Amino acid sequence: MNPVSDVLPSNSEAQVIRAKLHAWFLSHGRDLPWRRLPSPYAVLVSEFMLQQTQVATVIPYFERWMLRFPTVEALANAAESDVLQHWQGLGYYSRARNLHAAAKVVVAQFGAELPSDPALLIKLPGVGAYTAGAIASFAFDRPAAAVDANIARVLARLGDLRLAVDSTAGAAALWEHARGLLPEVSGGREHTSALMELGALVCTSKRPQCLVCPIHEHCHTREPETLPFKAPRKGSVRLDEDAAWIVKNGALLLEQQTGRRAGGLWKLPPLQTRPDTEPVFQTVYPFTHHRITLRVFEENPIGSAAPNQRWFPLPEVLEGAALTAPHRRALESLLAR
Ligand code: SF4
Repeated sequence: MNPVSDVLPSNSEAQVIRAKLHAWFLSHGRDLPWRRLPSPYAVLVSEFMLQQTQVATVIPYFERWMLRFPTVEALANAAESDVLQHWQGLGYYSRARNLHAAAKVVVAQFGAELPSDPALLIKLPGVGAYTAGAIASFAFDRPAAAVDANIARVLARLGDLRLAVDSTAGAAALWEHARGLLPEVSGGREHTSALMELGALVCTSKRPQCLVCPIHEHCHTREPETLPFKAPRKGSVRLDEDAAWIVKNGALLLEQQTGRRAGGLWKLPPLQTRPDTEPVFQTVYPFTHHRITLRVFEENPIGSAAPNQRWFPLPEVLEGAALTAPHRRALESLLAR
């Protein structure tokens, strides 16, 4: 049995929920830059940036990005190094590469106009079911379901879903619930924004404010803080990464990465010989299910750089090289010494 089928709202109840969300959103929705100018391209950019990154962090990046790449053509025609440079600091660079690739597809296959159909949007690089639904709703006002972490939390509580939301059955139940709440013809933009905003501002993971929640009467959970359920995480694996700080004639040696995730980005080269000295910088960062301890040691200059290495003048290195986030933190700390 589908565990939410018993609590899915009828059409008339869904209509009441939508009306309450609508009224609440009009008075409580935040003024976000991508809500002000919901051009399809601006929505595409904001949705890529918001994957795994918080709104407050994204805002300045989004505004800089729209100045540098104001149209989908401008992005499609940009060099990858320029794109990565402007993504620097947001992390998860595969999003930047996918956004760049998606812009190229939109220009080549859709005459530089984003399609409004989620079935076409989902074929773009880096666009999954959530992003396709979000673009269709926010950019084109279509009644398309989109379930992000905020909406998943609201719906899991609204339906008192006792399945892990990251399991196949749990995700299917959430999407069914989301589709059941959609307006019929249009109005997807405000509806999806309102649900998302409710999750961000009222139905928060800790201490949800049920007393002021506009849809409190329709909510089936009695224990909101215990939801949503999530599948147990795999234990993280600890790894060490020792890197070298090599300066010659006022320039720092960096090494360019290859591969799908970090290809094109620069980082400090690996340490050749572990010295007796203490590291000059140390940090721990997560990567998939790993926890990596990055230690940086000063090393004497080598003879000549390898083909994938380059000397960057120290005063310009932070602006001149697109760096992985932990190595950027190392450089910022070491340059400030
Ligand atoms: S009543 Fe509470 S748990 Fe239910 S949707 Fe509103 S804030 Fe979330």
